[in-house]
Amino acid sequence: MKNIGIIAAMNEEMQEIKNIMTDISCKEIYNLKFYIGKIENINCVLVECGIGKVNAARTTQILIDNFKIDFIVNIGTAGAISDKVNIKDVVIGQKLVQYDFDLTAFGREKGYITDIGKFIESDKKLVEKCLIAMENLDKNNDFNVHVGTIASADQFCTDRKIANEVYKEFGAICVEMESAAVAQICKLDNIPFVIIRSISDSPNGNNSIDFDEYLKIASKRAAIFLKELVKI
Ligand code: SAH
Repeated sequence: MKNIGIIAAMNEEMQEIKNIMTDISCKEIYNLKFYIGKIENINCVLVECGIGKVNAARTTQILIDNFKIDFIVNIGTAGAISDKVNIKDVVIGQKLVQYDFDLTAFGREKGYITDIGKFIESDKKLVEKCLIAMENLDKNNDFNVHVGTIASADQFCTDRKIANEVYKEFGAICVEMESAAVAQICKLDNIPFVIIRSISDSPNGNNSIDFDEYLKIASKRAAIFLKELVKI
């Protein structure tokens, strides 16, 4: 029977997923709470990692080390940096890159990590499953689903100029702060993963307001989506 690891960055996101879990028990490791239970009768381990790449990486490794996980799903919000992507849309991260990783002084491309590469790919089968899950959701929904590159950095991106640069340089369609770190650990440990992000804002100098407003809806949507995904 499969066991799915679910990583959420923020408490709001984690709580909505916990609400759809049953048979919950909790194991605490290094002050991280791992909720062990079921979604639609499928075994899951849910954890809130906190914000940023360091938190995401440490939590991913602790999750892998302590639970027999078949694959990892990282959910959360993101800022849109492509004109085709709107607030409320969902982005499935096919490729992940750290746009603040910079060894250009050594002639490397921006985002290139030695011995790892520039882009890390989500598991193809899981991306397909996510697309099916999205289709199975309410057909009348008012948002689009995109499959594309997500760029992570340790900053909440508010600057349109930076957003445009990241779009041009990496072909990324949204930015956030954890997924490329989850991806890097999963790649190093050979664990399949997929990233699902709900668009909460778009860098415009003032997008933290949109973010705060949209966080709740995005968190609920992630929970509904996960309920559908685990069934596939
Ligand atoms: N309000 C929080 C900070 C939220 S940071 C605090 O005060 O501590 C934003 C979170 O949402 C991160 O987890 C990140 O992954 C995601 N995110 C959404 N929009 C983003 C954007 N425009 N830039 C970077 N991260 C974004």
